[in-house]
Amino acid sequence: MIKKKLMMLGPPGAGKGTQAKLLSKEHDLAHISTGDMLRRAKEQGTELGKKAASYMNEGELVPDEVVIGIVRETLSDPEIAEGFILDGFPRTVEQAEALERMGIELDTVLNVVVDEPTIIERLSGRRSCTSCGETYHIQYNPPQREGVCDVCGEELVQRADDQPDAIRTRLEEYHAKTAPLIAFYRDRDKLIDIDGEQSPEEVEEQIQGVLR
Ligand code: AMP
Repeated sequence: MIKKKLMMLGPPGAGKGTQAKLLSKEHDLAHISTGDMLRRAKEQGTELGKKAASYMNEGELVPDEVVIGIVRETLSDPEIAEGFILDGFPRTVEQAEALERMGIELDTVLNVVVDEPTIIERLSGRRSCTSCGETYHIQYNPPQREGVCDVCGEELVQRADDQPDAIRTRLEEYHAKTAPLIAFYRDRDKLIDIDGEQSPEEVEEQIQGVLR
């Protein structure tokens, strides 16, 4: 199987994480989620986590140099650099340029398109496992027992940045800093639009079709 270098682009709540996990299994690609890495660092109370925590809780982007450093380190592993799916990085033009300077050329950028009411409904109903990171939705994908993770039995919580004020900030950050990447990758002929309003299964099917 030929390994690919993929990236998921889209607003918060587009389903990037869900699809990236599926793709990484299906195509044997490393799943690189800067959001997951930062959340882990925050929980562990590392220097990195302390630096990132206040930005994350407010729904703001963590400074470029911090995130670029983590990704550079991750991609310095040749096995990972051979085939991966970036989920939540790059999120600014500065980060995209840094990726190019690392000598990484993406094959395809999957731009997941969803409208704002859908985003708000998805994020405000999202619950996440404090232990394994599995995510649920109170209405569309509820756990078998309320408040308890199906996978590991730990407690489900609402992420601080899934609260209404933080959701608003995340959307503003997306429009101001991340949406310009649509033109950036379209210019480079890498961008493919995916209809993120569909069910997770339909989105997956559309992506598989594109990659075939
Ligand atoms: P996510 O789980 O991808 O929604 O990311 C959660 C939070 O982590 C974001 O709201 C940012 O505060 C931070 N974060 C994740 N990835 C990046 C990135 N590439 N650049 C800046 N901040 C990021």
